[in-house]
Amino acid sequence: MTKEEVLQQVIDSGSLPTLSTVASKLISLTAKEDTTIFDITKLISLDISLSAKVLKVVNSSFYNFPNEVGTIQQAVAILGTNAVRSLVLSFSFLNMERANVPGGFSYEEFWERSLASAVSAKLLMGKICDDDSEEVFTVGLLANLGKLILSTAFSERYCKILSQVADGEKSLDQLEDELIGADHAYIGCEAAQYWHFPESLTLPIAYHHDPDSYTGSDPLMKRNIEIVYLAGLLANILYSGKPIDYHRPFREQAKKLFSLDDETIDDLLRRVNVEVAQAAEFFGIKIGGTLSIPELLQEANIELSQLNMSYEQINRELVKAKIQLEKLTTELEEKNTYLESIANLDGLTEVYNHRYFQIFLEKELNRSLRRDLEMSLILCDIDNFKKFNDFHGHQVGDFVLREVCRACSEQIREYDLIARYGGEEFVFVLPETGPAEAMIVAEKLREAVAGGEFFFEKMSYRVTMSLGVASLTPGGKVKRSELIEAADKALYQAKKKGKNRSEQSQEKSGWFKKR
Ligand code: GH3
Ligand code: MG
Ligand code: MG
Repeated sequence: MTKEEVLQQVIDSGSLPTLSTVASKLISLTAKEDTTIFDITKLISLDISLSAKVLKVVNSSFYNFPNEVGTIQQAVAILGTNAVRSLVLSFSFLNMERANVPGGFSYEEFWERSLASAVSAKLLMGKICDDDSEEVFTVGLLANLGKLILSTAFSERYCKILSQVADGEKSLDQLEDELIGADHAYIGCEAAQYWHFPESLTLPIAYHHDPDSYTGSDPLMKRNIEIVYLAGLLANILYSGKPIDYHRPFREQAKKLFSLDDETIDDLLRRVNVEVAQAAEFFGIKIGGTLSIPELLQEANIELSQLNMSYEQINRELVKAKIQLEKLTTELEEKNTYLESIANLDGLTEVYNHRYFQIFLEKELNRSLRRDLEMSLILCDIDNFKKFNDFHGHQVGDFVLREVCRACSEQIREYDLIARYGGEEFVFVLPETGPAEAMIVAEKLREAVAGGEFFFEKMSYRVTMSLGVASLTPGGKVKRSELIEAADKALYQAKKKGKNRSEQSQEKSGWFKKR
């Protein structure tokens, strides 16, 4: 639907509020140039209850006139025709019959908020200049009339709009345009034109959300539009439920548009809720009333700081949990590394175990074959260990096994491997070591053990061992099992030749070269 079609539907559906007879006659009367104060007085006086209400307001602190205004004629003379017209219009709207639209739109809330905007406009005018404030009061009151009209004409869609506004993704104007086809500023302005309101009322209604889009040249019109716009922000601080969101923009705009200083702004913020309550009384409408803006802001700030605090708490907990997790992960990694390392070690002697020896040898052998490097394997066996055990006991035997390993470990290079082959047999893998060099190492090992004295519980013990050496030389080819078998054969020879000696494999490097 185009906005013109929306407007037509609104008019056809009878959703426009009906103006009181006096109000509508007053509008046509004030539009004529030859109207006199007397004509206006006569019209208002026809409605006794309206006359009484006008006089009550005129004599209230709402105006603060020094002398009592006794008659409508005096009131019109003092206030001027435009001011009286505005006053009558305000009464006409505020005393309209109010049936709440089912499903969300509350008339009470609407008029309370509208009254707050009207009072805000009047207060702002008072801070800016001495001009009459009745017109901006009325515009403030009627600026959002379009909302009331749209919610009556399109009640279901308007409920949807209101709930979507609460989600905060889109503005009210945007949603009105999308879901209905016209926004409330347009509809409010068109309705006011339909009732023949003067431009001084219709234009500020049209531009109250967006004062920059007024391109006319009338500075007073521009000022009134800006006042009504600011008044809307001020009313939103009071009634939106999000005082902080509107407080800053209000301050900024009040400074930018009218150069209001902080003190003036603070005074407005302090007074507005009290003034709204008073105006409601003068105009005879019931309102709920609110805390003052400073109180609302304080409350909102406390809520915000509580939110921040719980956010910080959550953050702290998270950091703590993260540190704990990191600690556990490190511990787990350390434990895994430890488990891995002990899985490869022999429990008694703490040198590598048989399983690890096989893996290491396979890797080293492949590397040596690939790069055509030499390498050697030494297999050794403690001599007559059965007798040793039988004589000194197993406990001493265990101690000696450990000591033999310690003594041997001291003789080899960092990248050589010592492992327990099984029982009282040990094996050494010597990367990049040829047969001659390996024999020297074997002898060093043998001497270290044979020459050593092992003390256990104040007693000294001695053992010897026999060693078999097998080597891979450049150009040779051998399997892991063949290399071990060759070293084993050499060890057998060492035993056979009298023990406590080292023997080199008969196959030597030449044997391997042939393959
Ligand atoms: P040879 O000189 O021919 O090697 O004679 P040997 O007695 O050393 O050889 P044999 O194979 O007959 O006996 C090996 C002995 O090593 C038997 C066993 O009591 C001992 N032995 C093997 N493992 C352990 C161990 O973990 N602790 C102790 N205390 N003794 C062990
Ligand atoms: Mg043995
Ligand atoms: Mg032995």
